[in-house]
Amino acid sequence: KSTITLIGSSQVIVSVYSVIKELVENSVDAGATTLDIKLENYGLDKIEVCDNGSGIRSVDVPFLAKRHCTSKINGTDDLKTLQTYGFRGEALASLCEVSEMKVTTKTDNDNISQTYSIDHQGNVTESKPSHIGRGTIITACRLFHNLPVRKQYYASSQRKKDDLNKIEDFLKAFALIKPSLRITFKHDREMMWQKLPSSSLKDALNCVLSRPIASQLLFKEKTVDELKIHVSVYLPKPGSDTKIMSRSSAERTILAVNRRPVIVKELIKVLKQYYNNCHPCGMTRYPVCFVEISVPPSDVDVNVEPNKTTVFIQNMKEVQVCLEEIILEMYGPLDHVPSWHYTS
Ligand code: ADP
Ligand code: MG
Repeated sequence: KSTITLIGSSQVIVSVYSVIKELVENSVDAGATTLDIKLENYGLDKIEVCDNGSGIRSVDVPFLAKRHCTSKINGTDDLKTLQTYGFRGEALASLCEVSEMKVTTKTDNDNISQTYSIDHQGNVTESKPSHIGRGTIITACRLFHNLPVRKQYYASSQRKKDDLNKIEDFLKAFALIKPSLRITFKHDREMMWQKLPSSSLKDALNCVLSRPIASQLLFKEKTVDELKIHVSVYLPKPGSDTKIMSRSSAERTILAVNRRPVIVKELIKVLKQYYNNCHPCGMTRYPVCFVEISVPPSDVDVNVEPNKTTVFIQNMKEVQVCLEEIILEMYGPLDHVPSWHYTS
């Protein structure tokens, strides 16, 4: 068994970032409103995600880290109405194979929380009473200790830092998608990023992007009724200052499809052409922006890649046109690209 499943696991759990992504999504699926994330030694020694969600019933614990065991769907038909981030029951089964995993959890019906140790096969080897409120803490120690080549990848300190940045970007995207979340992110006891619950998306933008940047963003939305497509954006106002542009798309262009932070090349392309070459030096720049797409769950396939960051949208053309129309209303035709103030 072990070789084949280990190869499979290394596709879901490819990095410290992908562990955080899976654990955070599980917490949100469990209805959590607070997320406390802690890493030690860039996550290689220890990763911990603590939430105040529903907790896990003790009868479900033996299946928690078993492959394809999920509490979120009952059959493939449910994929058409998918409301949760998870549905494959693979993340914890994979994580326990490449780390030493512990789960502490308490539901509303439990008097006291239990801490379970899980072995590489997903079996519970030990259970001890512990002392947390309602919710779940998943800890993963010594990540990739049994995958020396993967671990070697992290020998470079640049890679470790890149992963921390990716985690921060992901949490920021999530904070916009779910403004009411309270999030803390610590690395070796240092607070990397934190946010209080926001009462609105506008509020969350102020907090995630900073007030001076967020105040230069304009809200617009459009609906295609027949196809149940809704596109809403926060894009830079024409004439915004240089801080509103960045050199890389990943850094600042935040896209969400049905509340999933995703990368959709077709949409990035639409955005890009309006900002291309608008810099005096002819450099490609990307706008700081937040684009939210909502389509019927049956019209999106999130099952393209194990990490679900690439999605297929059924009526992609119509979504693109919708976004183009919004941009056109804001900036006018492409050959009249607005002037941007480059002060530096
Ligand atoms: P999936 O999310 O695809 O269902 P996972 O392997 O990520 O699969 O999780 C397996 C199961 O463990 C979930 O279906 C859920 O029932 C439970 N679970 C995982 N994390 C949490 C959490 N933080 N709070 C409550 N339940 C959780
Ligand atoms: Mg999951």
